[in-house]
Amino acid sequence: MLLLVAIAGCSEAADSTSQDNADAVLPGSGAVSNPNNPTSSGTAEAADTNNSGGASNAAAPAVAPSKTPKKLYRMNAVYSFVPINKEAASSKVVLLTFDDGPKADKTLGSLLDTLDKHKAKAIFFVNGYRVKQHPELLQKIADRGQTIGNHSWDHIDLKKEKMETVKKQIGDVQTIVNKVTGHKPVFFRPPFGSGNDQVKGFVRDSGMLYMTWSDGSLDWDSSTKNKPDKVVANVLEQLHPGVNILMHELPWTTQALDSLLTKLEAKGYGFIDPATIDLGLHPTAASAK
Ligand SMILES: [Zn+2]
Repeated sequence: MLLLVAIAGCSEAADSTSQDNADAVLPGSGAVSNPNNPTSSGTAEAADTNNSGGASNAAAPAVAPSKTPKKLYRMNAVYSFVPINKEAASSKVVLLTFDDGPKADKTLGSLLDTLDKHKAKAIFFVNGYRVKQHPELLQKIADRGQTIGNHSWDHIDLKKEKMETVKKQIGDVQTIVNKVTGHKPVFFRPPFGSGNDQVKGFVRDSGMLYMTWSDGSLDWDSSTKNKPDKVVANVLEQLHPGVNILMHELPWTTQALDSLLTKLEAKGYGFIDPATIDLGLHPTAASAK
């Protein structure tokens, strides 16, 4: 039942001089649910996402304020999304995510404008050291109604670190994001998609949903550098209902985004609002399978 891993941590690690690099991902990252990639070395790490019931600090107000959207989607074992109630939400959706920012007003602004044009929401998984450099860009993401996720402070491989370091790498991002925007992230993605039980446990205890992705754009890879059309093609090749699309704040991705979203819409896909994702952190979620 578990799907293992083989994170290509090496790809990114090998290129560690560049902070602009991203999470290693292989073309077959659609994992089990993608029959076209049987040899996938997959990026989904384990089938333990909806589980555990762990942390209990997720607020579950009996009377939800009108600001809080209804929860419509739940993440599955391979980090894709399925409707909680098929009659209430379409399964033909994708989650858009952008990692490793915030970097620059130009690239970020372009992404935000294109998302607005398509009335699309996304999660921006940020690194703490970049937030420290550009808190105003983080604020901009929040001001534009997009969701901020935690991607660790230094973009290091957390699987190789001691618990103390893991806590600091994750906790310091919660602190700085909260300081800048007034809200702590509720989504976490490990750099390189690389985690272990220690990392997952701390993430859950911090009130966040841990995810890697299920549709890698490969925009970080040299094969796709400066090729917006390739970004689009890579995503569409792995497309299936509910995919969790990994992209980065990179110039060729910003150039690709309008075309990508247009093509997704033409195929009948909608965009998941991260606020409608059930984090699965409620104590009662433990029994949900
Ligand atoms: Zn990253």
